[in-house]
Amino acid sequence: MPTTENPTRDRARLVLRRLKRRYPEIGTALDYRNPWELLASTIISAQTTDENVNSVTPTLFERWPTAAALAGARAEDVEKVIFSTGFYRQKTNSIITMSADLMERFGGVVPDNLDDLVTLQGVGRKTASVVLAEAFGKPAIAVDTHVKRLANRLGLTDHADPTKIEFDLRELYDRRQWAGISMRFIQFGRDVCNARKPLCYECPLNELCPYPDKTPPPG
Ligand code: SF4
Repeated sequence: MPTTENPTRDRARLVLRRLKRRYPEIGTALDYRNPWELLASTIISAQTTDENVNSVTPTLFERWPTAAALAGARAEDVEKVIFSTGFYRQKTNSIITMSADLMERFGGVVPDNLDDLVTLQGVGRKTASVVLAEAFGKPAIAVDTHVKRLANRLGLTDHADPTKIEFDLRELYDRRQWAGISMRFIQFGRDVCNARKPLCYECPLNELCPYPDKTPPPG
């Protein structure tokens, strides 16, 4: 790999190259058939697992198959369907108002750009970036708790604010790489560099990491 004048950028590229080797094909584990379903599923995925979301969305999208249908749903009916994912009142309100807003201002068509997406009720940069990268294949970096932790541990940012981290990562990587970053960081954060006990002793990024001995080897 050609080096640049920026050692952090060189390291960042090596990190991604290794993560691509480990996870050649990766995408969201959320089940969806169109951008609107992914938008709603991503909102529901807050504070729960993708498996939990996937266990309720078939019923949700069967009963309310379009933004127009969900915009007109009764909140208590939707709450019953997504109850098991937690924070169900807030999530119900978010997906109904997002769908109504989408109908009112975009004719029910999910916009494929960040500026418009983040104007939708209940949609922040992280959710918008997931939809852009996954449903549209557009360059976008979603910063969740795993991306935040990994980017900090690997010295790719020294910020805590997700938007600032997103901009640091944008600086370090070519635009065409952006869509492949988040899901790989997230998976690696779950598999190896987890929050409490990162598996540094068997980490394939070990010699690229400023904290190679965060957890001592067992035994
Ligand atoms: S060496 Fe440890 S802290 Fe660094 S990326 Fe690997 S698991 Fe995370």
